[in-house]
Amino acid sequence: MMDDKKTVRKKIQTTDQMNKIMADYFYGLNQAATTGSQKVAWCTSVGPVELLRAMGFVVYFPENHAAMLGATRTSNEVIPTATAIGYSPDICSYLTSDIGAYLKGITPLSKAYPGIKSVPKPDVLVYNTNQCRDVQDWFAWYSRTLGVPCIGVSSPKCISDVTAAHIDDVTRQIEALIPTLVSISEQKLDLARLREVVSLSRQCTDIWKEVLETATASPAPLTFFDSAIHMGPAVVLRGTREAVAYYRLLLSEMKERIGSGIAAVDGERLRLFWEGLPVWGRLRQHSEIFAGFKANIVASSYGSSWIFPALDPDDPIRSMAKAYLELFIVRADVYKEKHLQEMLEKFRVDGIIFHDSKTCPHNANTHYGLPQRLEMKTGIPALVISGDVTDMRCISDEQTKTNIEAFIEQLEEGK
Ligand code: SF4
Repeated sequence: MMDDKKTVRKKIQTTDQMNKIMADYFYGLNQAATTGSQKVAWCTSVGPVELLRAMGFVVYFPENHAAMLGATRTSNEVIPTATAIGYSPDICSYLTSDIGAYLKGITPLSKAYPGIKSVPKPDVLVYNTNQCRDVQDWFAWYSRTLGVPCIGVSSPKCISDVTAAHIDDVTRQIEALIPTLVSISEQKLDLARLREVVSLSRQCTDIWKEVLETATASPAPLTFFDSAIHMGPAVVLRGTREAVAYYRLLLSEMKERIGSGIAAVDGERLRLFWEGLPVWGRLRQHSEIFAGFKANIVASSYGSSWIFPALDPDDPIRSMAKAYLELFIVRADVYKEKHLQEMLEKFRVDGIIFHDSKTCPHNANTHYGLPQRLEMKTGIPALVISGDVTDMRCISDEQTKTNIEAFIEQLEEGK
């Protein structure tokens, strides 16, 4: 039963510090793009950002921008503009939101960061298709529209085991990016600087992992919804000192919460796992629904997408290739099933929610029987909710709420 008294997740104090470093990051990008003080590279979320930073680029991530369009519920205003030029409403709504917003001259950055008028104009676009083909098509549009070079890695996908052959392939492809990047940045690749950036990325990733794993405590000091927000620096600032310093602070706050028995959701009664992308335009509502039932979504596969244990400053490029291939999203169901099983055990989870994101079939693990197999193997009930990362037309709030209520009842009966 939902409590009459509203239970909400607690505010994390270091959020203010995160907001500050994110603001510094966006103003820094804007300054570079408007003054030409530094070259700007656009990069996909798991593209070779370490290489770009080592070569002096400031790096912008359109996926982060698309998530902002979703979170500010701007997407449905702009998606039709991308549809009108031939981009189907059935493909990635990050892509259609971002391109639509560009065509309409809209960006949530202007409201969040006064003085910023547009997204930073790129000097180069660099993708990695380890997550999906859409990122390549997305960047190709900007390349044609802005007359900017578009280069990248065509990654193996659906891998069970990451083999030396896979790593060799991606390593060669990353190395092949270097001559183009040298000619654009007018800087040679400094191996010592690359090692330093890879080391910072590794530190960021290690501490972020520790932050997420604090939720193995009962009660958990953070929720999936917190991690969706606080992953910001890991996404856009990995490879920098700022990100490392930020996650040290966040980790210390989480440890303090554990020490004082502070729960992210008061009276935590159920512990859940979230598989798939968040519904950005419903983050707060979803957080409130679950907190209302004293259910905490303690972990997710999404939050772990920025954990790269393979990064190794002693072997920077090859270790980048390995790290980008080992990700959950790149792997076959055999791996995913085993990984999810381990996560459910580690976080002592009562139930798992699968978000079937309509326009992101690449990251919706609900189409090939995985929820059913996992449920059979673990006995842990699964619920599939239909939705989307940003396209609100794919969401029925009533249906979602009804399904969650019924699922929670089922879990409570089984306790
Ligand atoms: S993984 Fe999904 S949401 Fe992300 S860019 Fe690809 S299709 Fe879009």
